Amino acid sequence: MPNIKEEINAINRMLPEGTRLVAVSKFHPASCIEEAYAAGQRIFGESHVQELQAKHECLPKDIEWHFIGHLQTNKVKFIVPYVSLIHAVDSARLLKEIDKQAAKVGRTIDCLLELRVACEETKYGFTPEECEIFLENGEWRSLQHVTICGIMCMASNTDDAGQVRAEFRRAHAFFTKAKSTYFPDSPSFKECSWGMSHDYPIALEEGSTLIRVGSKIFGERHY
Ligand SMILES: *Cc1c(COP(=O)(O)O)cnc(C)c1O
Repeated sequence: MPNIKEEINAINRMLPEGTRLVAVSKFHPASCIEEAYAAGQRIFGESHVQELQAKHECLPKDIEWHFIGHLQTNKVKFIVPYVSLIHAVDSARLLKEIDKQAAKVGRTIDCLLELRVACEETKYGFTPEECEIFLENGEWRSLQHVTICGIMCMASNTDDAGQVRAEFRRAHAFFTKAKSTYFPDSPSFKECSWGMSHDYPIALEEGSTLIRVGSKIFGERHY
């Protein structure tokens, strides 16, 4: 078991200005989150709606909850009242549902578009081509209760650091082009969410502003 406080402090010491740590607490009990909270951590990432619900209810209200996993449209309504950032929006349909549910509770939800850059067959995320079409289409501009704040991706699960770096670079190039083409006047479009326990040092070199680190802080997950 890692020492949660030490791990959090060590990661924070290497974060460049403007970059934040999302402590990924999925499958770890509320007591682990409390330990991280006591070390000053306020942003936590979860990827299952029911688990997030239960933790949100029993933990301090100044925690910023980030939903980092694949989100089903029928579950959006449960997290919209309190979630701070939804990382993995991968369809127009999901974004529209978030907008609709957010309107009902009078909120505007920050969202990231999930870009599929990994070479391996992953199920989720827009390919860069699909994401371009989605942005070009412009329907998102009429949604008043969501703010698109940037891009999220997961690199291939490989020991090949060169490949991981190339994938982050591709995501960053997409981010830069999208920013200048579609969000030139939107200061909110500024987040690049990439980097996990095994690849966050590379992610930090490749423009990440949000690293999502779980097992390095909390230890192995028992599913
Ligand atoms: C679980 C998860 C993480 C954290 O993974 P670790 O390898 O434990 O750091 C990051 N991002 C997403 C989307 C995840 O589901």
